[in-house]
Amino acid sequence: MGGTQSEHKLILEDGRTRYDGRALDELRPVSIQAGVLRRADGSAYVEWGQNKVLAAVYGPREVHPRHLQNPARAIVQARYNMASFSVGERKRPGPDRRSQEISKIISEAFTSVVFVEQFPRTTVDVYMEVLQADAGTRCAGLTAASVALADAGVPMRDIVPAVASGKVEDVVVCDLNKDEDTCGQADVPCAILPRTGEFLLLQMDGHLTYDELMRAIEYNRRAAKVINELQKEALRKKYSIVTLQNNEITEQPPQEQPPQEQLEKAADAPVASNPPEGGA
Ligand code: ADP
Repeated sequence: MGGTQSEHKLILEDGRTRYDGRALDELRPVSIQAGVLRRADGSAYVEWGQNKVLAAVYGPREVHPRHLQNPARAIVQARYNMASFSVGERKRPGPDRRSQEISKIISEAFTSVVFVEQFPRTTVDVYMEVLQADAGTRCAGLTAASVALADAGVPMRDIVPAVASGKVEDVVVCDLNKDEDTCGQADVPCAILPRTGEFLLLQMDGHLTYDELMRAIEYNRRAAKVINELQKEALRKKYSIVTLQNNEITEQPPQEQPPQEQLEKAADAPVASNPPEGGA
């Protein structure tokens, strides 16, 4: 929220269309890819409008230094970083107050969604690298990291989407772009657990009335559902089985694993060609 004056009107005369052509409640184009890095346990790449973010996950693995170990649960250490070339003016490399704050809130959000009690004394390391920034990068980073965690097979309550709505020229709009963020009046990033509607992250920068805040949250809630579908689709795509049939490539969703009980029963069952005595 720079409070800077825009060179052009960000909300057009009709009061319903934004400068980039979007409706007030419309997201920017979003694409998500799972499993893009070979060395990481899990990874994801997100393009969200002009944002480009890569996420990688390692763990659960041993904690170093060891005094950070928690005997009761895993710790989740998220690190958000903006590349020097991610913004117009070269950004000074290394952590700053802003990236430390974002890393902290994302660590806290994931600590409440990962089943940390299952992995005492370990760490789950989550890295988010912003390659190109255009507002909403903490949400794009969290969205990518959530897919990377699922790709790494880390047990979680749900896959978490995040999105930031805000206020521009006295109008509440969904998913602010850079112009809207710089010249806008407020910014409300949220991360929402789709299954329960629980908020894992809720921040507000700027001024909003109660009604405006409720509207921004409602926009976030609706947009989060769309983002969550894209996250699940990215994971489905990575784990689908590609087969060649009649010279045509067909994609199948991953096979449902039969429950362990059924497998055990099947192993104990007599083989068809050797029926039990007295059997038909
Ligand atoms: P978010 O990216 O989550 O919206 P902010 O509201 O803090 O986080 O930042 C908004 C945008 O401002 C960023 O996405 C980025 O485009 C720009 N920005 C942030 N930090 C810097 C920086 N150090 N130098 C240049 N631009 C920056």
